[in-house]
Amino acid sequence: MRIILLGAPGSGKGSVAECLRSVYGFPKISTGDLLREAVRGRTPLGLKAEAQMGKGGLVDDATVLALLRERLAREDCRNGYTLDGFPRNLSQAESLEKLGSAGPEVVFEIQAGEEVILQRLSNRRTCPSCEAIFHLLNKPPKKDGLCDVCGTPLVQRADDRPEVIAERLKTYHAKTEPLIAHYAAKGTLFKVDGNGNVEATFAQLREVLDSVLDRAKRSRD
Ligand code: ADP
Repeated sequence: MRIILLGAPGSGKGSVAECLRSVYGFPKISTGDLLREAVRGRTPLGLKAEAQMGKGGLVDDATVLALLRERLAREDCRNGYTLDGFPRNLSQAESLEKLGSAGPEVVFEIQAGEEVILQRLSNRRTCPSCEAIFHLLNKPPKKDGLCDVCGTPLVQRADDRPEVIAERLKTYHAKTEPLIAHYAAKGTLFKVDGNGNVEATFAQLREVLDSVLDRAKRSRD
């Protein structure tokens, strides 16, 4: 199964993708994580991407596609995966359709209000080493300022500063939101409420996925 998560920055895509990995075993493919890894590695692609990310705009399609193509070719993606942060515009959606499929496509739009989003992003702290995500109020690390998973000091992402957040939301509305109509027309879109906690959001996805998986199984039998 190929799961695509749409939703504004801070809507909870990354956290939900993590739940999908632990419950269904679908690897979480986050183009944001792939890009940050390239930036940290100072690769030519990373150096090119860094400036675009810092301003809250999109990295160019060719760069993102090169990273994604390589990641999807790995063995763990053979039976399905969750895409977090891709596609982000119509041309990326078209490229994805050409990349081959791994079972049925299910797209979720995670809807969250702007106030909820701003509260989440401004309190978010991330681990620069393993990309684990924390929230100063709702999910603080066990040891102040340190990652629970690997002990690395947590940071605030450069693009989680208020002025860049505003730009990212603008980019989302202008470039990514049109994808909602695209997938609705294809009949693969499901809308879920992302204003509650991760468990509440994930419960809605599970209901949809379990019925899609059940239908796929019955049509095979
Ligand atoms: P968020 O969804 O919270 O904005 P991400 O980690 O998904 O965070 O993305 C961070 C940044 O990486 C984006 O603002 C953008 O600059 C870049 N990026 C991530 N995915 C893509 C993509 N599919 N196409 C272009 N740029 C991307």
